[in-house]
Amino acid sequence: MQLLEERIRRDGVVKEGNVLKVDSFLNHQMDVELFDAMAEEWARLFRDCGVNKILTIEASGIGLACAVGRCMHVPVVFAKKSQSINIDGSVYSTKIRSFTHGRVYDVIVSRKYLSEGDCLLIIDDFLANGCALEGLLDLADSAGARVAGVGIAVEKGFQDGGERIRSRGVRVESLAIVESMDARTGEIVFRSQSV
Ligand code: 5GP
Repeated sequence: MQLLEERIRRDGVVKEGNVLKVDSFLNHQMDVELFDAMAEEWARLFRDCGVNKILTIEASGIGLACAVGRCMHVPVVFAKKSQSINIDGSVYSTKIRSFTHGRVYDVIVSRKYLSEGDCLLIIDDFLANGCALEGLLDLADSAGARVAGVGIAVEKGFQDGGERIRSRGVRVESLAIVESMDARTGEIVFRSQSV
């Protein structure tokens, strides 16, 4: 998506350790008009898939997921990073290793909000090693829900998450795929896509 690529080129900051900072429009301050344009693109890509719910993970996925939920007229559920363990069995839970913080979180969704009849569109901000997505797919699987696909804002194509998730047969639509980036020069190269 050209609009997003241009914004990343203009305002993205490449950090050491393969981290792309996009705090000025996505991860801290949020450009909700850009979110709406991205949501329209995902809604177009997944329009005939019977999606009845958006699933994301706190915190950075929530803003994007809300834009998509409004655009597709479906509710949004976000997986919570939890401190407490699942004692009474009222939640689906999984573990996710955070790329940015390097630690493992327990992540939960109440059984009330995910079920067998659901057809999910999973939305997240970044796809790096794929741990966050694997966790969300695991939660969907526990609920017996169908996954129509995944919408990602920025995929780092030089990390293996995208390939791992696609090789499971999951449809992944990333609006920008970074092929390479250089912390020294700040250069960002995008994979060319038809969108
Ligand atoms: P993964 O689980 O695919 O390794 O990483 C995905 C999660 O890590 C995303 O939800 C995002 O919050 C965070 N993340 C991974 N790489 C980056 C990055 O380069 N920049 C930012 N801002 N977040 C990232």
